[in-house]
Amino acid sequence: MRANLLILAGTTEATAFANAAAEVGLAGTVSFAGRVDRPKRQPLPQRIGGFGGIDGLVEHLRAKKITHVIDATHPFAAQMSRNAMAACAEAGVPLLALTRKPWTAQDGDRWTHVPDIAGAVDVLDQPAKRVMLAVGRMHLAEFAPNPQHFYLLRLVDPPKDPPPFPDHHVLVSRGPFTEADDLALMQEHRIDLVVSKNAGGTGAYAKIAAARALGLPVTMIDRPSLPERREAHSVAEVMDWLHHSGVDLGV
Ligand code: NAP
Repeated sequence: MRANLLILAGTTEATAFANAAAEVGLAGTVSFAGRVDRPKRQPLPQRIGGFGGIDGLVEHLRAKKITHVIDATHPFAAQMSRNAMAACAEAGVPLLALTRKPWTAQDGDRWTHVPDIAGAVDVLDQPAKRVMLAVGRMHLAEFAPNPQHFYLLRLVDPPKDPPPFPDHHVLVSRGPFTEADDLALMQEHRIDLVVSKNAGGTGAYAKIAAARALGLPVTMIDRPSLPERREAHSVAEVMDWLHHSGVDLGV
């Protein structure tokens, strides 16, 4: 069977899978939401922008004759993942999520778990601190109720609007980052609290390891929950799944 994949992207895992798929001659499209200014260059054709909800995605799957969907979106991109589950069920297209396991606390970690961004905002309702806020530019406005802190903001692109707190420093960088560099960065800015999404994976882990080394508390935003779905944690597992569903993986 000749496959025509739809890869829902926005992560290093999506790019890794697209590279592997192109290498074995699989056909497909890599889809981005369009949140970053310059998405990573892909070895397969790409499209940018939403599908128009579940109905729009069903229409897309049918019109483009998609044979398999690989949901390699970020663990916090829950809306897209829910839409993919519903649309694939409706269109009868097999779906596999390529995702990372969440980070778990180790000896020396000082984590406070919160269920969502609003929970992190509540934790920051306290006297002024020096905070490394690693939540992405889309969520900065939600932290406006706590303008008393200094915020170190590391973002993939410069913020579109000025952050809604007077005392901040913006670092534009895509990563991956190293523990040594993040430790130096936290010391330079005299950080005393880190706020992070539980992204999982290696690319964004440096700040968590650096916080542990410095004995700093971390407010860890837990992942949104999703209905049960089929998941893979490596490119090889996705290839196996495709192979077992009858896809020809020869070049
Ligand atoms: P979201 O809340 O789950 O998605 C909102 C809407 O954006 C979706 O309903 C869909 O629009 C569109 N969309 C999302 N991902 C898409 C994709 N890969 N291709 C086409 N349309 C997509 O997602 P989000 O949190 O805005 O994240 C957007 C993208 O950024 C994702 O691709 C994700 O992998 C990446 N990202 C997210 C985070 C994060 O923390 N959320 C971090 C790093 C990277 P329609 O309903 O119109 O189809």
